[in-house]
Amino acid sequence: MDSRIFHFYNTLTRQKEIFKPLVKDQAGIYTCGPTVYHYAHIGNMRTYIAEDTLVRALKYFGYKVTRVMNITDVGHLTSDSDTGEDKMELGARREGKSAWDIAKFYTEAFFKDYKALNCVMPDVTCPATEYIKEMVALVSALEAKGLTYSIGDGVYFDTARLPDYGKLAGKGHVEGIREGARVEVNAEKRNPADFALWKISAPGEQRQMEWASPWGKGFPGWHLECSAMAMKHLGETIDIHCGGEDHVAVHHTNEIAQSEGATGKPFSNYWMHIRFLVTGDAGKMSKSAGEFLTLPVLQEKGYDPLAYRHFCFCAHYRKQLEFSWEAIDASQKSLGGLRAIVTRLKEEAAAQAPAPRKDLEYLPDGRPTFWKHFEEALADDLNMSLVLAGIWGALHSNYSAAEKLAFVREADSVLGLDLDRAPAQEAMPAGVAELIAERETARKAKDFKRSDELRMALLEKGVSIEDTPKGTKWKLVRG
Ligand code: AMP
Ligand code: ZN
Repeated sequence: MDSRIFHFYNTLTRQKEIFKPLVKDQAGIYTCGPTVYHYAHIGNMRTYIAEDTLVRALKYFGYKVTRVMNITDVGHLTSDSDTGEDKMELGARREGKSAWDIAKFYTEAFFKDYKALNCVMPDVTCPATEYIKEMVALVSALEAKGLTYSIGDGVYFDTARLPDYGKLAGKGHVEGIREGARVEVNAEKRNPADFALWKISAPGEQRQMEWASPWGKGFPGWHLECSAMAMKHLGETIDIHCGGEDHVAVHHTNEIAQSEGATGKPFSNYWMHIRFLVTGDAGKMSKSAGEFLTLPVLQEKGYDPLAYRHFCFCAHYRKQLEFSWEAIDASQKSLGGLRAIVTRLKEEAAAQAPAPRKDLEYLPDGRPTFWKHFEEALADDLNMSLVLAGIWGALHSNYSAAEKLAFVREADSVLGLDLDRAPAQEAMPAGVAELIAERETARKAKDFKRSDELRMALLEKGVSIEDTPKGTKWKLVRG
């Protein structure tokens, strides 16, 4: 297979497929965004890093990507089905703020982490509360097709009316829901799998977020926002829809039901799902359980956010990934190692003319063969651990510094690890700057005795120095 033909696992067809976009060389991608009632945990960020890698890989392969991400700022209930409290109202009560302030605060916190992880901003970010009109129109369209019914607390989707309901998750799963195994059963629903499109505010309930609708004052069901916004921004059929693995069973299944029920067309041609990050002792990460690791916690402990990005590349996105401090330490070291090599390559490349060597292999277009390995691994369902291994292999190869440097820079347009950044300078211990300045003065005055004394004084502080044409360089001496 051509190393540049991108293929990946499609949850819908349960196999790896060549990506064939609706419009040549373009890709429309919808990714489910955060529910902004709390900080995002590093598990959530695994999913966003994988989605960012997909976007970057498609761009590398020449696609013009339009990526849409929603912000769930209303309607996501604590049970993921149609019971429980709206997570936004819960967050507002927890912090004594308005639901709107909670949404604003946690949206900003999310994008701060998102950017620190070098994730490219989506082309469109859309908060659900700004698309109520589109959501009401979608419910009306479903109603006109006879796919809905009303009960005491709202308008529901009648899943029995859609013959292929549940095709994303597979047949056995839907039967499980129909038997009431997966979601809490509301006795008034015709089928346990039926889900709310519009929930009516309970009598006497004063919700902070509610809107008028043909069915009464209330708020949209969680699944509705993604169908309405995806179709609004990307059209009735989209190329790729992504999210974490938890969304297959209910959220994405119901998005398909709503969109395909309304349009009669396929909603998304490809579905990509990212397996969960788990913590060894705590099981899966969960915002609702309260205790979870966030990116700022890692940063406070001295980790580069991109060490977490690197850590995510160590396992395939379709395999569960277990977080451990040993593993993130190893990633922090590898990242530093890669940056140090790139720094050295820059110096070498400046001094060395890039001439292809007769004893090395080149591709027909003149590039070293490691490019092919990189592209093959990337095009094969984003095999990032193989990509990383290939980069180490390339850096340790006999090709010229300039050839390696050109490659690693281009590869980093997909990895997003800032490999061109100089390795982190260690913090200078107190008093060292003064001693170095005093020694430079002594050397200028040719007082070499004093200069040696100062070198010893610096060593006692754990700092060794080197005199270079550009001035004194220092480094910490490890014991
Ligand atoms: P939420 O903010 O809960 O709506 O989730 C945002 C995204 O993170 C969704 O795509 C989820 O599927 C995903 N997600 C949630 N928990 C995890 C986890 N532990 N590991 C990876 N992705 C997750
Ligand atoms: Zn969604």
